Amino acid sequence: MGKRVLKRDLEKQIFDLKNLLEISKSLSSTLDYNILNDSILYTCLGALTVMKAAFFSKKSIDATDFTLHRSFLGFDIDHQHSYSIPEHCPLIDYLNRHNTCHDPETLYKLLPPSPEIAVLAGIEPHIIVPLKAKGAVNGLLVLGEKIGGGKFDERDRDYLMNIAGLAAIAIHNAYLFELSTTDIMTTLKLKHFFMNNLQDRFRGMNEESDALSLIMLDIDHFKRVNDSYGHLTGDETLKGVAMIVQEGIRLIDIAARYGGEEFIVLLPGVALSRAEEVAERIRKRVEKATFASGAHQVQVTASFGVAQFNPAVDTTPLVFIERVDRALYISKQQGRNRVTVAE
Ligand code: GH3
Ligand code: MG
Ligand code: MG
Repeated sequence: MGKRVLKRDLEKQIFDLKNLLEISKSLSSTLDYNILNDSILYTCLGALTVMKAAFFSKKSIDATDFTLHRSFLGFDIDHQHSYSIPEHCPLIDYLNRHNTCHDPETLYKLLPPSPEIAVLAGIEPHIIVPLKAKGAVNGLLVLGEKIGGGKFDERDRDYLMNIAGLAAIAIHNAYLFELSTTDIMTTLKLKHFFMNNLQDRFRGMNEESDALSLIMLDIDHFKRVNDSYGHLTGDETLKGVAMIVQEGIRLIDIAARYGGEEFIVLLPGVALSRAEEVAERIRKRVEKATFASGAHQVQVTASFGVAQFNPAVDTTPLVFIERVDRALYISKQQGRNRVTVAE
């Protein structure tokens, strides 16, 4: 009798360990925040048989809040409301010191009332788990009730802490990757990331491939901005233009800082005429924008080149980039503040 119980217990443990191995593989297979967020949520639903899971995390490298964004399943979330927890607050400080599974009610009693406690209480979680890596909380996992009711027992909690540990490392790795591929000033991608990405795409490209276009832009007479208003105002202007570029494209497009005041955008699945429209829209927005820095109000324009991948001529990524660069050069020559399409 005792032997049989022991055997069942061991089998359960082996089953759990095998599952953890799979979870570990799945979580370490991506450095993409969005994929990772989804992966963490589905892992919890599957591994702990809960109907609801939500994950508070930083949504960018410069974020100072843990937010829900779209990373929740099953919970009744009010889309008008912002579910946000500052990285420095009594709740996160406490979780930093107590890295374990927490019962919400106990937590609410221990900590003074605060907006972040209200945020948590608002979604009515049944268990709260910090994600901690490299000595700091980098996310917060909250789960709803177990399917079929019942409390989270020791085994659930152990298991959950293992998942949280793996998830925290995965989040930290994604953060490091993001940090090492992002231009901190503009928050666009760095040139080397862009080039690697373009190189990867080139390997699979042929006559039948989907369209792929590039937009390159360079701020006009930018030296004058620096000379007239100083470097700090120049920086603010640069950030402003970068933001307009980022807001003018889709999530799957990649915008990078190619040089000092020169940007490049990769648009997968986009043909030339559409890429030209995107460039024209960004050009108009830059032209209209006023960038304020201290007492200065700065206006700038930018010149654009647009090209679509053509397998007959674009034998390497550099040839492709040279074509879009030449189109940009023509925009400069013909008076700036315009879009030129590569022939
Ligand atoms: P053009 O219309 O021909 O592009 O003229 P331009 O003045 O923009 O071109 P040029 O390449 O001569 O000058 C670019 C300037 O951009 C020079 C450089 O000091 C400035 N710049 C590059 N990177 C930064 C930066 O990070 N911050 C600031 N403030 N200025 C920068
Ligand atoms: Mg310039
Ligand atoms: Mg330049």
